[in-house]
Amino acid sequence: MAETINFEEQVKLLVELQGLDLQILKFEDELKAIPERITKLENDFKDKSASLKKHEDNVKALQLKRKEKEGELQAKEDTIKKYASQMHQVKTNKEYSALQDEINRVKADNSVIEEAILNIFDQVDIENKGIVAEREILKKEDLAMAEEKKVLAASADEVKVEVDNLRVRRNELAVKVDKNILTRYGRISANKDGLAVVPIIDDSCQGCFGLMPAQVINEVRMKNAIVCCENCTRILYIEE
Ligand SMILES: [Zn+2]
Repeated sequence: MAETINFEEQVKLLVELQGLDLQILKFEDELKAIPERITKLENDFKDKSASLKKHEDNVKALQLKRKEKEGELQAKEDTIKKYASQMHQVKTNKEYSALQDEINRVKADNSVIEEAILNIFDQVDIENKGIVAEREILKKEDLAMAEEKKVLAASADEVKVEVDNLRVRRNELAVKVDKNILTRYGRISANKDGLAVVPIIDDSCQGCFGLMPAQVINEVRMKNAIVCCENCTRILYIEE
């Protein structure tokens, strides 16, 4: 004689099993979110480091420009010296005053260049102040990130232990379920985000909220078989 199946008991087991499976799913989602969170932290930090690098590069470019301007200034100073020494050799007033005009013109150029150099110094000062502040912030954020990673890793460890415990309990429960019913439950569960067994409340399936025909409700009440919702295929039960 074939073993008779106590459908009422089987459905109760399934509801309990589903409760554990849903908790496992929730914890697995939490576990998946942890590396995503870490990646986001690292990417944000990389963006901020890139901004610091940009400011550092700006300073380098400004320093180069300053050296260039200083070179120009030096060349013009040399020109002035050259003209000044020529002044000793000129014969006429006209030549003398022409040289004097040249010297004045180059001196005027130089004051423009000097102004530009001072301006570069000011810009470098501003950039450097920003860089110091940014480095300080990055240092703090680096520490905060390390701390948060530690917390996340600890919480991942906890969740893993929790999931392992739930799996043990789940498997202990699963062996009590009839093989065919368990297979059916597993198939529906996989298709329905873990929600495979639902109650009928106010004549409605609580999976799809469709109204159940009286005949289906009767079949569920009789507990002689596994009864599924015709709309959503979920296994139905009625809470007494
Ligand atoms: Zn349904």
